[in-house]
Parts: sequence; structure tokens; C-alpha cells
Amino acid sequence: MKNKPLQEMSLLMRRLTNISLLFALTLMGSALQTASAADAKDNLPLGRTAVAIVDGQYPASYFPNTEILGADEMRITALGTGMPNQTKAAVSISYLVELGNGDKFLFDLGSGSLGNLFSLRPDFSKLDKVFASHLHVDHVGDFMAMHIGSWLSGRFTPIHFYGPSGSTPELGSKSFIENMQKGYAWDLATRSGALPDLGAEIIVHEFDYKQENKVVYQENGVTVRSWPAIHSLDGSVSYGLEWNGLKYVFGGDTYPNKWYIEYAKGADVASHEAFLPPEALARYFGWSLKQATYVSTRIHTEPQAFGKVMSVVKPRLAVGYHSVLSPENNAAIMDGVRKTYDGPLALARDLMVINVTKKTINVRMANVDEYALPPNVTDGYKKAPRSDAKQPGDFISSGKWKGYTPPPMPKK
Ligand SMILES: [Zn+2]
Ligand SMILES: [Zn+2]
Repeated sequence: MKNKPLQEMSLLMRRLTNISLLFALTLMGSALQTASAADAKDNLPLGRTAVAIVDGQYPASYFPNTEILGADEMRITALGTGMPNQTKAAVSISYLVELGNGDKFLFDLGSGSLGNLFSLRPDFSKLDKVFASHLHVDHVGDFMAMHIGSWLSGRFTPIHFYGPSGSTPELGSKSFIENMQKGYAWDLATRSGALPDLGAEIIVHEFDYKQENKVVYQENGVTVRSWPAIHSLDGSVSYGLEWNGLKYVFGGDTYPNKWYIEYAKGADVASHEAFLPPEALARYFGWSLKQATYVSTRIHTEPQAFGKVMSVVKPRLAVGYHSVLSPENNAAIMDGVRKTYDGPLALARDLMVINVTKKTINVRMANVDEYALPPNVTDGYKKAPRSDAKQPGDFISSGKWKGYTPPPMPKK
């Protein structure tokens, strides 16, 4: 059994489908429409109509902005599931969580993940909360790119960054953001005034990395809690998001830890790293077995350990990530996990989509246009106050070539 990962996956998919069908009758086309219908309309590609999902019958692929999220439903999209040394198929870590009440949350924004977020053409005016598990580049490397990219594409209010403290102030989230703003001073100065003024702001919510299942965020019926993780230095955490009787757990990089075992319990969907086992890691990166064993089993969680954690936590769906799932890597991870865990499982790939209700969990892939335009912006964005755009100084302006005259500016 353990040597047949594909059969395992298809068994899981069948099981999930069966669950969907089992409860389809009870749903009986119950009204799944919600406030998010209006939100989806803004970014709907021409010629498409967003539809409610009836009787849990999801299309085989998820086409962004074509489905109305049910009022009681949560949609989790893996934007990045890979490593710091990326491939096109697996960029660094990020998850988007969308709720039936219209709220949206980002967990991590690792390098490379922003392109996948843009490919979903989200309404960036609603995407203003980022929860960072820790400050490794494969978890926060695209935060500034997101801050500026979303400010260009519809966000006209401050962005909120929730992240852990470190063992010293300079290793914490507040210092990270302040120094990013200093580093990007030129970029931020060029856009300030031309783009909505409030969109320039980053509000940092730094919390104690040692806190155990304490509230980080609570609003609109949504509670996000954090607890410590064990990874390199102090200052990695995991999060639990609870809303409307559903619970999603986002595991930060970690050695298997007692807090996750305790606080991830009751999760509908629990994600946790499932790193490459030592031999596969050594082969993949060209490392010595000693170095690979140290990284895989002391800094991270190798597949058998992931399976042990999930066999205790027992989520409705366990999600393993933080690897590049080439066929041989996929087999190595699946072999390891299945030695210690036989429950519902999905190894996350970039743009895997999980729809969760109390009755069904549906796993599939998103189908995106690689040349998708940025999303349309709202009227609120267009009307948001802007101070004056900046100009280059006199010396640089005097260098404009007289041989070219730009077209006249339109009235609007
Ligand atoms: Zn890390
Ligand atoms: Zn990582």
C-alpha cells in the first residue's frame, strides 16, 4: 500500500467525493449565496457568471471568481507550498483563506507566492491581513511585493501584518517591517502621493512568540490564535483560525511540538510541514546525509513524524506541505507518512484548493490564466484621497530629450 501513492490519492478523492454525495441530499440546494457574491462580481471575467455550488457538486477544477462561496463555507487556497530554492511548480509558502462572511486572510507570503495570488484576481481592497509564521524568506519574502502590488491593484486602506516577536527586539516582526520600509524607502517614496495615501501604511501587530493558544485577532466572528513552534531560533509560530464552527490550522515550520498536538485538535483542516526525509533531501539538494538528517529531523518535520502528529491530532483533512512534489519526492513523502498515518490526507501543491463545510471537504486544483490581468479596482479605490505625485528634480528633468514630445494629457 505504501508504495502506491497515486492509488492512495485517488482513494482519498473517492472517499471525499462519497462524503460529498452522502450529504448532498441533506443540503438539497440550500441557499449558498452570500455577501461575497457582490465581491466576486467586481472581478468576474467578461462572459462568466459566478454560480452557487448546489448539492456539493463542485466543478473538477476551480476557476477563480466563478463560484459563490457558501455562507457557511471556507475556501483554502495553497498559493505556495515549496522551498526557498524554488521551482516554477512550487514557490515558497503562502495560504489564502476565504470565508463565507466575505473575510479573507493570508498566512505567510513566501517569495514567489505573489504571482499565484494575482492569478486568482482577488479584490485587493478586501485583502489586508497577513499572518506570518516566522521571518524566513520562504515565508515572508513576498510581503513587501504584496504590500506594493496590492496598493497598485485595489487596496486603499492600511495593510495589517501579524507576526511573532523574537528573542531580541531586532529579531521580531516589528523590526522586520521597519527595516523593510527603510530598505524600500525609494520605492515607497516614488508611489506615495500617486497612489491612495492610506494604502501606504503597514500596521504591525507583534505578539509574544511564547503565547500558547492566545488570541492574535478577533473580529466579525473570526478568531485567530497562535502557539509556539520549534524551528532554528525562537520566534516561529503556528496559527489556528476559528469561524462559524470551522477550524483551520496553519502550521509554521517546526520540529514536532507539544503545542501543535494540543491546540490543533478539533481542526477541520490541519496543515503542517511534511519535509523530505533525509535520504531524499540529501539527493535533492546534493547534501551529505548528515546535513540532510539534521535539517530534516531536527529543524523540520520529516514525513513519518508528520504522520505521527496527524494520527494524534486527527483532523478531518491533514495537509502536508513544504517540499517540491516531483514524482520521486512525492513517493518518498507519501511512503513515510503512510507508515504512521492512515487518515484523510492531501499533499499540497501550489494552487490546490480546499472547500470546507461542516459536511464536506473537497480538494481540487485551481485552473488559472498565466496571463491574467490584475483585478479591476473598485470605485472606493478610484476615489480614495491621494496627495500629489512626486517629480524628479530640476537636474534630472533638464535631461529630457527635446527630440520627443509626449502626447497631450487626456482630460480624464
Ligand atoms: Zn523556516
Ligand atoms: Zn520554511
